Amino acid sequence: MKIGQHAGLTDTGRTRLRNEDAFMRSPPLFVVADGMGGAQAGALAAHIAVSVFEGAAGAEAPDAASRLQALVQEANRQIFARSQDDPSLTGMGTTTTAALVEGSQVMIAHVGDSRAYRIRDGTMTQLTDDHSLVAELVRGGRLTPNEAELHPQRSVITRALGTGESVTADLLSVEGRPGDIFMLCTDGLTTMLSDQTITDTIVEARGAEEAAETLVKAANRGGGEDNITVLLFDLVDDAWQPGEQPPAPEVDEEADTLSELDELPVLDELLPEATRPPHARRRRRVRSFRISRAMLIVSLLATVAALAIGAAVWGMQRAHFVGADADGRLVVYQGLPWNITDGVGLYREIYVSPVQAYQLSKDERAALFDHALISESDARERIAPFEREIQLP
Ligand code: MN
Repeated sequence: MKIGQHAGLTDTGRTRLRNEDAFMRSPPLFVVADGMGGAQAGALAAHIAVSVFEGAAGAEAPDAASRLQALVQEANRQIFARSQDDPSLTGMGTTTTAALVEGSQVMIAHVGDSRAYRIRDGTMTQLTDDHSLVAELVRGGRLTPNEAELHPQRSVITRALGTGESVTADLLSVEGRPGDIFMLCTDGLTTMLSDQTITDTIVEARGAEEAAETLVKAANRGGGEDNITVLLFDLVDDAWQPGEQPPAPEVDEEADTLSELDELPVLDELLPEATRPPHARRRRRVRSFRISRAMLIVSLLATVAALAIGAAVWGMQRAHFVGADADGRLVVYQGLPWNITDGVGLYREIYVSPVQAYQLSKDERAALFDHALISESDARERIAPFEREIQLP
């Protein structure tokens, strides 16, 4: 068995200013990294991780597991050392999900909330466990997987490369079969697309390049709220002589996928009444009595709704809770810890602390992120001890 097609693509997405993701594709070694930290630090951390893997792509080691383990530790050491040298880089880190193929065995090393999947016979299986706040809450039975998908703190990770002197990576060995497709990706893909959409896209694509391009476009169409990175490779039978994969068009990896977004449908319903055909207006007048009764009911309902919204807004202005932002920093939010839709929340940032969620222990995080509604001063007081305890630059 050997690696057949492979493809990789990264994209800034539609709302972030910079791309802090990075990937490395050098068969039999594949890596994705999603960096975090202020200013340029996240991009730097991801870049250091990927370049450590790149530099050692051909290196010898007794087996795949110890080789990956050594690379993860070396990347961790370099990122941490760099952040110690430069105060502006304090707290920077990155996720890392790496796959090393050896015959039919695919060895995976994993830290953070990027993911590895296997697609076999049209079914996609997630191979890695997220090291994230919401995954901890789901595993502890405190959140359902559906609630986790829309959770405001879903991008907060609890383990990262480069944030401490050493790191523990999950290592897993997966037995591959000819026809298996493996995907490594960052959370910018999986938070924008359902598992079913991802599976269908990959299965229906005419090759790895097309699958990667279509996935990135779909994630942008779904909102593109984070940097998006996807890496795909498949396994083929050794006996099958490669009829050379069909020549894929050259891909500009920095290509702007936004220009190809679907156009918005035209809303005929928004035409002013005068532009409608006259008979429509006449029919309307005949029904006017029934309509006026309906109008009364509607206006009553509207009044009730307005009162309810008023009460909710009044409550929201007083309610605060502790959470964390997309960069993992502790935040005091005003409002309610709910999202109406993906990306639209009933809360706003009041105070951002320099302390990162992963600098806390698991128990401390569970206690702090209970989403209890409290006053602003109580919320600040809950963060203050960590700010005193953790050496700030
Ligand atoms: Mn991300």
